[in-house]
Amino acid sequence: MLAVEGLTARYGAITALRDVSLHVDEGEIVCLIGPNGAGKTTLMSSVTGLLRPAAGTVSYRGEDVTRLPPDELLRRGLALVPERRRIFADLTVEENLLVAGITVSSGDRRRRITEVMEIFPVLGEKRALPAGYLSGGQAQQLAVARALMTRPRLILMDEPSLGLAPALVKVIFQLVARLRDDGTTMLVVEQNARKALDVADRAYMLRTGRLVDEASQEDFARWSDLFESYVGG
Ligand code: ATP
Repeated sequence: MLAVEGLTARYGAITALRDVSLHVDEGEIVCLIGPNGAGKTTLMSSVTGLLRPAAGTVSYRGEDVTRLPPDELLRRGLALVPERRRIFADLTVEENLLVAGITVSSGDRRRRITEVMEIFPVLGEKRALPAGYLSGGQAQQLAVARALMTRPRLILMDEPSLGLAPALVKVIFQLVARLRDDGTTMLVVEQNARKALDVADRAYMLRTGRLVDEASQEDFARWSDLFESYVGG
């Protein structure tokens, strides 16, 4: 579904990613973990066309998409849930969803709003409210709902549980598991490593711009000690 090969990304003189290669197979939940500044968001931005990498390639469903813009990737079924739940604070909940569905026909857009409001009933209740009034957990649900508007094949989620109360973290990960059961493939960035590994099929560990380890479910226990030093548990 996704193959990243030799990806290097820079911000001016800062090299944020060095020669990173990873892949996500269809139907998998793959988790990317690592401490602050490891380059996780940079990787998400490079894959979704928000940042042009200095070197390397991104392939999606067998095609080289390295130079494609985000809207074209969205049309092809690759959606991002950005970090810090970026939503339009001045637009209503419903308007946020309409804008997110800009690449689909207006009839489909209406249908999908109904679908996502079934998944997240609170968004239906607050549909006419400016999104800036939502709580952190509700805003995160809206950020995920926006990504779902295009019925993506592959979703990249950047720290979906950041700043959420434990009960809401659980809700978000239940949703991740449910999306996978519905056939959606996901690459999830998380600092909440243990929670993420509960639902992940495989995981990569990123540190100062390099991939330092890779693990499948059977190896996750081996990572416990590393978590203490890398991500403070
Ligand atoms: P966090 O968990 O804090 O979000 P991260 O793993 O997502 O961290 P990135 O945000 O990708 O890490 O940052 C990787 C490196 O690139 C860091 O050293 C960061 O300071 C730097 N960086 C990120 N964005 C920019 C930018 N716009 N301009 C300059 N440097 C940047």
